[in-house]
Amino acid sequence: MSDDPLLEIEDVHVYYGKSHALKGVSETIHRGEIVGIIGPNGAGKTTLLNAIAGFVDYEGTIRFKGQDLQTMSSQEAVENGLIYCTEKRDLFPFFSVHENLLMGAQFRDDRAAVREDLEMVYDLFPRLDERRDQEAETMSGGEQQMLAIGRALMGDPDLLMLDEPTIGLAPVIIEDIDRAIERLHDEGLTIFLAEQNSTFALNHAERLSLLETGEVELAGSADEFQDDDYIREAYIGVH
Ligand code: ATP
Repeated sequence: MSDDPLLEIEDVHVYYGKSHALKGVSETIHRGEIVGIIGPNGAGKTTLLNAIAGFVDYEGTIRFKGQDLQTMSSQEAVENGLIYCTEKRDLFPFFSVHENLLMGAQFRDDRAAVREDLEMVYDLFPRLDERRDQEAETMSGGEQQMLAIGRALMGDPDLLMLDEPTIGLAPVIIEDIDRAIERLHDEGLTIFLAEQNSTFALNHAERLSLLETGEVELAGSADEFQDDDYIREAYIGVH
């Protein structure tokens, strides 16, 4: 495994008109890490992931595998292994589970590897396996979230960006997603996780940043976050 950073974010600013949504955010992610970004509604978590994915314009530098992302199209970034599972999930509602998963592999041409990954996803989420032919729009919110993660995995990510994977989900479904993330981590996948659910982020991430009104207010290890009084009171509800 190389020690070179997989993703380097340097002093990134995003403006929506006059509104300064990201005010100089920096972060570095190495292979095999899970890095979390937590913060309240409107802090800029989605904006940061959107900037990395090339969905919004930004100032500053973001490099993936050493290459400036401003020099790559979004498709090139995906082909390079930068895969984004958005908060909206962006499923094809009238496509089956199976078809949605195949769409995740649309830029890959190694059919044998794609077939292997399909089986890996069905093994990771047995609920999807049971519903291979079901239309995405008829699935529960939790099943749709599993499908969105499964489809992202079908892109063969080197870096998987997950935006709020547990939002609005029942605890029993969050447990399924917990297990899946744990297994993916054990297998060495690198994940950048944006979450309002601090407990979920703290359970998985080795390092975290707290984003508030577009600025990183605190960055540290999961242990440092657990022990920080401000974080405990504001974000974990432990006093
Ligand atoms: P949430 O958890 O609610 O999704 P977030 O931390 O992901 O919050 P963002 O969605 O990135 O936060 O929003 C950051 C700020 O930028 C907010 O003030 C939001 O209103 C604003 N914003 C986001 N997208 C746009 C847009 N397309 N146009 C204008 N303002 C935007």
